[in-house]
Amino acid sequence: MKAPVSGRIHSIETCGMVDGPGLRFIAFLQGCPLRCLYCHNPDSWKRGGGREMDAQELVDEAWKYRSWMQASGGGITLSGGEPLFQPDFVLDIIRRAHKKGMTVALDTSGFGRLQDTQACLDEADLILLDIKTPLENEHKNLTGIRADQPRATLEYLKNINKPLWVRHVVVPGLTDSRESLDALKAILLNIPSMEKFEFLPFHKMGEEKWAEEGVDYSLTDTPQPDKSFMDGIREEFAKAGIPL
Ligand code: SF4
Repeated sequence: MKAPVSGRIHSIETCGMVDGPGLRFIAFLQGCPLRCLYCHNPDSWKRGGGREMDAQELVDEAWKYRSWMQASGGGITLSGGEPLFQPDFVLDIIRRAHKKGMTVALDTSGFGRLQDTQACLDEADLILLDIKTPLENEHKNLTGIRADQPRATLEYLKNINKPLWVRHVVVPGLTDSRESLDALKAILLNIPSMEKFEFLPFHKMGEEKWAEEGVDYSLTDTPQPDKSFMDGIREEFAKAGIPL
């Protein structure tokens, strides 16, 4: 086998329970080209930050936890940052994990040119896709990048029938309008391979990190969505047949 590809890691969590099925070994990869207004990990943005690790080292680290991963139906999750910012690293991790019998979920915004990311999308066992906004003209304002690449990624994932868990953050004043929710529902109802959908309420837990990074945080005055509002839209989407 070729020499392992090196990449940059922000941090590792060894017993994750929400980023894929079962118990997860979660590697948060360093580097993200997006600038989501609600990001709670701005310290993961810089490409050269974090620490270097090679794909085999990461898989060997995950292998130490194989007994509880296997017993729970879990596996490795590659999150970020944006893991598809380091597609060669991600692909090497997936292939080395598969050789050891471990599955890999990829937690992504859908960033990246398909010619760079396609093999990762093909070979990951599950994609956790964060739809930032269903409104294409709002995408750049919310995330700093246009909607083209995330939309192309979603279309590709639909074409290959890839198992998908989709997530969407509800931010008052940004993603909670009737227009936005209706557009989101229409997109979700047209993803046959989606196994699960989750609404996540906006929170400000990362606000202090923005100051530490020396970047202005624009959502200081934005409230968290009401519980009754969240319950209402979950019920509405479930009634429409969306698997929550
Ligand atoms: S994609 Fe994730 S890490 Fe990147 S800016 Fe958005 S929320 Fe932050």
